[in-house]
Amino acid sequence: MERIYLDNAATTKIDPEVLEAMQPYMYEYFGNPSSIHGHGREVRSAIEKSRKTIADLLNTSPSEIFFTSGGTEADNTALYCSIHQKNIKKVLTSRVEHHAVLHPLQHLEKTGKIQLNYAELNDKGEVEMSFLKQWLEDNPESLVSLMHANNEIGNLLDIEEVSWLCKQHKAVFHSDTVQTMGHYVHNLQEIKAQHIVGSAHKFHGPKGVGFLYINGDHKIHPFMHGGAQERNMRGGTENVYGIIGLAKAMEIAYRDMEAHRNHIEGLKERMIKGLSKAIDGVQFNGQSGDTDKSLYTVLNVRLPENDMSEMLLFNLDIKGISASGGSACSSGTNVGSHVIAELNIQENRPNVRFSFSKYNTVEDIDAAITAVVEMYSVKQD
Ligand code: PLP
Repeated sequence: MERIYLDNAATTKIDPEVLEAMQPYMYEYFGNPSSIHGHGREVRSAIEKSRKTIADLLNTSPSEIFFTSGGTEADNTALYCSIHQKNIKKVLTSRVEHHAVLHPLQHLEKTGKIQLNYAELNDKGEVEMSFLKQWLEDNPESLVSLMHANNEIGNLLDIEEVSWLCKQHKAVFHSDTVQTMGHYVHNLQEIKAQHIVGSAHKFHGPKGVGFLYINGDHKIHPFMHGGAQERNMRGGTENVYGIIGLAKAMEIAYRDMEAHRNHIEGLKERMIKGLSKAIDGVQFNGQSGDTDKSLYTVLNVRLPENDMSEMLLFNLDIKGISASGGSACSSGTNVGSHVIAELNIQENRPNVRFSFSKYNTVEDIDAAITAVVEMYSVKQD
């Protein structure tokens, strides 16, 4: 049985073009980029070329891009360094953020460093803009951390509008852009954020590498102390082939973005239609059923309860379908999601997140629909 992978918000399959670009840096070009001899210099030059590729795609300067071990490190660096070094006392986030944001902020709150506030959400899990405006008026010069898109329910935030609001109120704005990076265009001349982040494995790059954008006017000191790498912002020998793969993956993502978006959006719509037609009472969590208001890569399905529903993900897995109950940490199990818990849903119904990539086909979607339908009563027309 060939397995079908529908958990692309957890991670994606590496693109062969990316792999090809990385390979020489695993063997042939092995110098330490900090070494000043020829072996080092050729690798240093490849890293700087990668930084420029990413900066150009984001319409910003290479001096504002810092390579990290992924989204979690980028989020932690941005939050800890900005809060500590700018002496920020009031922070606004939301209860549906990824744990890479929620846990560092809750740690800072627990240790008495900040007063942590949560934005009001509507019943779809979206931030109430009127609340945000009022909060910023009452708490200028604070820090706001709101994700561009939710990894479980796909809700999109108007990142540009929020960035301008924060700017008006002299608040530092950090946005976890892990789920939109490589899937949407980020123009950093329009998005007035101090920090955005990227993680290569979410857009067909390698795992364990990402980047943090730090706006040039927002000076912070390192999180990771050590050598002078990353212009003194992150000690430690660079993950060279990871960085090469990250830049290549970004390049491909931007090059083919429109075609991939059209393809993936079509798959998502097919699944929405297919499930709605076949299963009475199926619903879509957050805004994920609305392709204009959510990631085109994510569909979070709320199914009716039945005898099989407790073991839904397990049963899908047996049928060869890899999907998830929420974030990656709960893949394969149906443990409660902190995001779904915020949605004010009364019934205790099974939820499953299907997330799509350029490698998925119409046949994958139809097979997943069939697998779900087999567990549920088929609607009588
Ligand atoms: N933020 C969001 C929204 C994510 O979906 C993830 C990955 O699951 C992360 C942060 C963490 O990124 P990484 O796996 O690169 O540490």
